[in-house]
Formats: sequence, structure tokens, C-alpha cells
Amino acid sequence: MKIDKLDIEIMDLYDVIIIGSGPAGLTAATYTTRANLKTLVIGGRKWGGQLMLTTLVENYPGFPEGIQGPDLMAAMRKQAEHHGAQIIDVDFTRLQLPEQQSSGGQEDADYASDPIKITTDEDKTYSGKTVIIATGADTKWLDVPGEKEKIGRGVSSCAPCDGAFFRNKNVIVVGGGDSAMEEALVMTKYANEVTLIHRRDSFRASEIMQKRVKENPKIKIIFNTEITEILGEMKVEKVKLKTTAVRDSQFAVRKNNEDVRMSPKELGGDELIWQMPIDGIFVAVGHMPNSGMFKGIETDEKGFIKVREHTKTNIDRVFVAGDVHDATYKQAVTAAGFGCMAALEVEKFLMEQ
Ligand code: NAP
Repeated sequence: MKIDKLDIEIMDLYDVIIIGSGPAGLTAATYTTRANLKTLVIGGRKWGGQLMLTTLVENYPGFPEGIQGPDLMAAMRKQAEHHGAQIIDVDFTRLQLPEQQSSGGQEDADYASDPIKITTDEDKTYSGKTVIIATGADTKWLDVPGEKEKIGRGVSSCAPCDGAFFRNKNVIVVGGGDSAMEEALVMTKYANEVTLIHRRDSFRASEIMQKRVKENPKIKIIFNTEITEILGEMKVEKVKLKTTAVRDSQFAVRKNNEDVRMSPKELGGDELIWQMPIDGIFVAVGHMPNSGMFKGIETDEKGFIKVREHTKTNIDRVFVAGDVHDATYKQAVTAAGFGCMAALEVEKFLMEQ
């Protein structure tokens, strides 16, 4: 029997290709497969997203005692695969949009001759009728001199992953959100002393997390302070800091081996530049959406993909779900919810064709 090229293309044509395997991507995959849509998940070489770098997740519904982040992701993956999702642990490299942008009314044959093409780092190309972008967000770094080259040499963004390397050492955690509170609390299990440094005079973290931090005797808090440089030969040894004075505040400084309080005037300015010896720095200042690789997909000025009509992007047949578009909630459960919404929209879109 002769199989011509078009038949092969139709056989290999997925109803939906999902890029990303965090809560958004895997929830979407469970929904699309249960709706009988042929589903491929480009999971990434590090599959599972940010929850793979976390410990106990206490606020995902259904787990009264909490659940470890990697266990939650393994369960989501198993569920999607159980329903028939094909998940490949390779990285996405290129999205090739269809040549013709339609406003609906396409036949299957058009999808086959003009699909969305997704290329991976193995140089394989997959064809889909639709795509859901669920690539999440990545660590935002401080972007100060000495930081980049010391990642893995004292600079980290993941206390649960790297905390054990700092047993009985002194570390800094940077940030004022829930992530920073969580990182500081995790580090108290390992470190001798944890100094939480925040650039403003109040945290934005939830009340409960702030309370836990403030009540922990191992955590010292320094407000109004930024790291301006990370110093050290092969690894982190010291940080250079800039503390800004607030109103009539005084700086607590160490002078002649004594802790004393001095006004900005006594110190000669309303900014204090100082240094602190330190063994490790945990950066927890938020995340950046992974959207840069999608040429032609509209984003806002911070890189979050712009959403129109629930989960649609500016490109026909390309949908979006999770932290890559959500600058507001950024929770595992909201990402999963967006994954569900995108899957339902894809199902509706394909049914209407
Ligand atoms: P976030 O809420 O955006 O907080 C980022 C923090 O880093 C802010 O305090 C910010 O300072 C500071 N920051 C940003 N850029 C900085 C820079 N260049 N230098 C110094 N400081 C900088 O991010 P997040 O803490 O990762 O939390 C993200 C979302 O996930 C939130 O909705 C949070 O509630 C959620 N989350 C929840 C949990 C939990 O419930 N257990 C755990 C982790 C995260 P400013 O305050 O001055 O802007």
C-alpha cells in the first residue's frame, strides 16, 4: 500500500501541542486527552516547573497535611499520561506559525498542509492544529557584579535544593515576598544564621509567612538595603550593601568591635555602603516569564504574554496558560486552573471548525 506524504503528515498531526509541564501544562494535558484530543506535551529537559524546586506545598487543595512539590508534579504527570498524553522530556526551540491566519472555518486538510510547527532541541519538528504555551516563569536574579559567575558557588535560588551545602554557615536571603520568607525559613534548618535583606521597609509577603519569619530566632531582618556587589575569589565570601536611611532612622553599625547606632549625619550621608562576610546568598526576588522564544506572540513590557478572550493569544490557534501570562496570582492552583481553561477553549475551538 502506498502512503503518500500528506497521509503521513495527517497521522503525525496532533490536535494540541502543549509546551511546558508545570501545573498549567499537565492540567491542560489531562483535560485535552480526556476530551479525546491527540496531545503532545513538550515537557522540557527539566520537566515539572517551579514546584520541582520546592518542598512542602501547603495550599494546594486536597492535601490537608500538604504535599512535597515534586510528589505533586509526579502525580500530575502520571494522571496526564494515564489518560493518554504523550510527554517528551526535551526542550522547545522554535514555534513556526501557520502561514495563513484564519478566523475559523478551516477544514482538517488545511491543518495538515499548514500546521503550527514546533521544533525541539533534538531538531525534531512536530505539527499541531493548536498550541498551548505553558512555559511558566524562571528565577529573576539581582543582576549585580559577581552574581552570575557565583551561581552554584554560593549563589542559589533554591533553598530546598542547595540548603544542605550551608550547614552551620551564615547565609543571606534577598527579597520581601512569600518566596523569600519560605527560603529564609527553609534555611533555618541548615544555617547558623539567616539574614533576610529587603530593599524596602516592609514586606509584601502574606501575614502568616511574615509572622513565621519574625518569630524565628535564627532569622535577622535588614530593611532598606540592597546588595550592590557579590565578592569572593572562587566562591561567595562577602557582599557589598547599600542601606538607605529612612526619616530620622539610625543605622546599626559595628564600630571598634561594638554594635552602636549612628545617624546618617554622623555617618556622612543618607546612604550607607558597607560589607558583610557571608557564605551563601539565596535570591528570591520573583520570576520572569518564559516568553522570549515565541516570536510573533504579543507580550506586555515585562514579557508576560497578553491574553485576549480568556486564554487566546494574538495568534489564531495559539493559546496560553499559567505563570507565563499571569503576573498577578502565580500560584500552582491558579496555573492548574488556567491550564484547564486553555484546554476547554482548545476543545471548543476545534469543535467549531
Ligand atoms: P513577589 O511577590 O513578586 O516578591 C518579590 C520580592 O522581591 C518583592 O519583595 C520585591 O521587592 C523584591 N525584589 C524584586 N526585584 C528585586 C531586586 N532587583 N532587588 C531586590 N529585591 C527585589 O515574588 P515571590 O515572592 O516569588 O512570590 C510570587 C507569588 O508566589 C506571590 O503571589 C506569592 O504569594 C506566591 N508564593 C506563595 C508561597 C506560599 O504561599 N507558600 C510561596 C512562594 C510564593 P518590592 O516588595 O520592593 O517590590
